[in-house]
Amino acid sequence: MKLTFWGAAQQVTGSMHLVELEGGTKILIDCGLDYENKKDFEQNNAKFPFDPSELDLLILTHSHIDHSGNIPNLIKQGFSGLIVCSPPTLELSDYLLQDSLNIQMMEIRKRRKQYYRKKNKKSSSNLPQPLYTKKHINEMIDLTTVLEIGELFHFNDELQLFFKPAGHILGAVSVCLEVKEKGTVKRIGFTGDLGNFNSKLVPDPEPFSNIDYLVSESTYGGRQHITDSRKAEEVLLEEVIETCVNKKGKLVIPAFSVGRTQAILFTLNQLFQEGKLPNINIYTDSPLAIRSTKIYQFNLSYLNDEAKQFQHKHGSLFSFPLLNTVENEKESEYLSVSTEPCVIVSAAGMVEGGRIQMHVRNNVSHEANTILIAGFCAEGTLGDRLLKGQDFVEIERRQRAVKAKILRTDVFSAHPDHNQLLNYFQASNKGSLKQIYLVHGELDQMKKLAADVRNIEVLTPFKGQSFELD
Ligand SMILES: [Zn+2]
Repeated sequence: MKLTFWGAAQQVTGSMHLVELEGGTKILIDCGLDYENKKDFEQNNAKFPFDPSELDLLILTHSHIDHSGNIPNLIKQGFSGLIVCSPPTLELSDYLLQDSLNIQMMEIRKRRKQYYRKKNKKSSSNLPQPLYTKKHINEMIDLTTVLEIGELFHFNDELQLFFKPAGHILGAVSVCLEVKEKGTVKRIGFTGDLGNFNSKLVPDPEPFSNIDYLVSESTYGGRQHITDSRKAEEVLLEEVIETCVNKKGKLVIPAFSVGRTQAILFTLNQLFQEGKLPNINIYTDSPLAIRSTKIYQFNLSYLNDEAKQFQHKHGSLFSFPLLNTVENEKESEYLSVSTEPCVIVSAAGMVEGGRIQMHVRNNVSHEANTILIAGFCAEGTLGDRLLKGQDFVEIERRQRAVKAKILRTDVFSAHPDHNQLLNYFQASNKGSLKQIYLVHGELDQMKKLAADVRNIEVLTPFKGQSFELD
């Protein structure tokens, strides 16, 4: 069989790996958007380096856009095979892809205005277009079959597969392909994105056993989580008391709509039910996060024991009297300038775009406030610039004084760090593991991770690199 890396190769986004079997079956693992470089977005995503109509099967590990975001375009360009994912991934993907299309349309409207201004005419030729339309999202849903974790899926005489829990976010899975070739069975594992161990809501990632090859994410390779002996509950409670009670300020928490928002709201609910949370309003302000939170609530069987026990005892994971959902943009604007001491959880996590940018803009210059960065921020994003500790930060072309306290915590991280990845590799190696291919990471960090792996060959493939696996 041949394995080719067409995305997330020596970079983080655009996950897409092609497996071609001797009997002719062609399988794609994930089909994510590559948004590593905004300028090259169209060039990197519009066309595929293979014929989509020749693919038989697409396996989707989880709903994040860097893994799922180009599937509707794959369909637009001829893919009509089967898509397999977990049931929560299918539900979340529907919302996330719609959201991704809305973001593309906003960008396109901006560019069209520029185009008309430049050309000074209302010509429609060469106008920027979105990668796909709503129709292709609907077609994706129609082509999908859901597979539960642990069930064996027989695709044809040369391929069967099964999922393992990956942690990370609701419904995320690692996938094992069992390939029958030349009378023997070879097993190849794809981690998808793995979760941090002991995360809120989601179970721990489960290592493979008895695999021959492993394709692994390496987002936090070479990095350790900030050591914090405190639990997530303690970190949040301390900041709510310090900022909202003692200083009468606002605690603003940028959080991705799927995953981190739910972990934070659940933790606040735990504090409330224990009678520890002060009488401070909590606002969740992201339409996508509100919809995703409902999907978490309805997929309890995919959550960890702590979440199940909490649900059993309190009847809900997320609903408690202090939690308010912000329904529309007007309310959101009002909240961003109000002086009520409160907690605001809003998207997106790296403070790039979305409603969080307005909350940060209107609150960053007040000493009483705190901005709590709860996850990885890529270089150059507003979250990253805030963390650099500068006195002024540019938001929407204006310099704003940074007077709020800027804090960072890794207690809500959605990826394993360097040591956790090494432990995962060790647990996955029962003697037969021949090679590990690292993807979904920066090359320098991958090299640090590879250097610490003992007794197994570790490779860092470049985009388009192929390997014969035998
Ligand atoms: Zn992910």
